Amino acid sequence: MTLEGRLGRKLLWSGDDGYESARRAAVWNGRKPPRRPAGIVLAEDADDVVTAMLLAGERALQVSVRAGGHSTSAAGVRDGALLVDVSRFTAVNVDVRARTAVVGPGVLGQDIDSVLDPLGLYFPHGHCSSVAMGGFLLGGGLGWNWRAAGPGCALVRAVDVVTADGETVRADETRNSDLYWAVRGAGPGFFGVVTAFHLEILPKPAVIRVAAHNYPLEVAEEILGRLYGIRHETAPIVDQSLFVTQHVTNSPHGPTMLLGTFAFAESEREADEALAPFVNAPLRNKAIWGVDGMPVAGLGDLTMTDDLYPAGLRYAHDNVLSNASADALAPALAPAFATLPTPRSHINWVNLSGFPELPDMAFSLSGDTLIELVTVWDDSEQDARMQSWVTDHARGLEPLAVGGQLSSDSMASRGLAPDAYFTADALSRLNTLRDHWDPAHRFVSFLLS
Ligand SMILES: Cc1cc2nc3c(=O)[nH]c(=O)nc-3n(C[C@H](O)[C@H](O)[C@H](O)COP(=O)(O)OP(=O)(O)OC[C@H]3O[C@@H](n4cnc5c(N)ncnc54)[C@H](O)[C@@H]3O)c2cc1C
Repeated sequence: MTLEGRLGRKLLWSGDDGYESARRAAVWNGRKPPRRPAGIVLAEDADDVVTAMLLAGERALQVSVRAGGHSTSAAGVRDGALLVDVSRFTAVNVDVRARTAVVGPGVLGQDIDSVLDPLGLYFPHGHCSSVAMGGFLLGGGLGWNWRAAGPGCALVRAVDVVTADGETVRADETRNSDLYWAVRGAGPGFFGVVTAFHLEILPKPAVIRVAAHNYPLEVAEEILGRLYGIRHETAPIVDQSLFVTQHVTNSPHGPTMLLGTFAFAESEREADEALAPFVNAPLRNKAIWGVDGMPVAGLGDLTMTDDLYPAGLRYAHDNVLSNASADALAPALAPAFATLPTPRSHINWVNLSGFPELPDMAFSLSGDTLIELVTVWDDSEQDARMQSWVTDHARGLEPLAVGGQLSSDSMASRGLAPDAYFTADALSRLNTLRDHWDPAHRFVSFLLS
């Protein structure tokens, strides 16, 4: 049978019935890119992926991959490429005793959590429960409890990969260890299709508590100074995000600052102590309102971020990693705080300091603070304006940045090179490995402008 025949109706060439809806469905963002792949393979298993790679070789097509479609730049949708869609790889198989799970790249955060939570286990999946494991883990993966658990990719113990020439290989610490090094952080620069992730999973924290405080924008400098000042001493079990937005807080007079702090603890006492610097701080008196340590049952109840990102709306997203002090960052951010273009648009100031020691892997760049800039709108006429707002404010922060986090892969919109996302050594190794594993550059790699 021909390669096309083997794929049957799972292969859609441009112009086929179903192609356009599959092309649009490949992108979670309501804003769809104009780019048109030559064909789309709606893969159901690893054999389909192998066949797709052989077909791409036969037709001299480049290959792109898509799992959950959350890439802001829609990095998986490329002109003229064969798009291998692995969103149907949704199996989750848990070995409770070994505390491992084998998950498909199409598994969403909410899916893995609904399997693990009843078993008293968890995996630090993305803060939006609809992000899929594929792109999340490849790009590093900063999920719940990231400062204690580290990036999700650090919990990848092995991967099953279909290579550029259509071979299926396992990569781990001892087999194909260079591929294993690359898969943990290469993001859209990876040169293979991951068909399964073998993950270490973690015992669910006994106590999860949330403190949320809504502050007026007038105290922005004070808040940023405080968060920066205590970034290292903030307990590793605390995730801290400061959202500047109008939406979540429903403020009638424009944006306010919602400081969310989340403790993943082994006891109530540990949770209280960890949240104390936020709950008992003198600054707390300046909050418009606050919740001082609400218990939640599990990750599934942490819906604050989901609420910021409903499906169907249009999004532009960029980020900056910085080691600069709040004294330098606060004035640089003030123009963005003052001009957020829609109520749902937001800026998120995240304490990234204090990752646990990480293994040697492609994910290699970090900083004390991650600043995310996000515009959210629903009218296509506003696309250019909303993208410019994000791009311009991210550019304004560049003098204070050490780089960015691949999760928003904004290379294309800001004209950045991959060296903004990796240490020089890691990027050089990644390029060498790409030439080794994919000498014909069958895979499309990063989406550059
Ligand atoms: C609403 C929202 C919330 C987010 N929250 C977080 C968060 O909390 N933490 C965080 O770290 N990031 C977060 N992100 C960023 C997100 O992790 C990345 O955009 C990630 O790439 C999304 O994965 P995906 O599979 O859904 O995307 P896709 O667009 O499907 O994949 C992105 C790229 O990853 C590669 N890829 C995906 N699967 C495979 C595979 N199986 N084999 C080979 N390559 C593959 C491809 O190059 C693809 O272009 C968020 C994004 C959005 C839109």
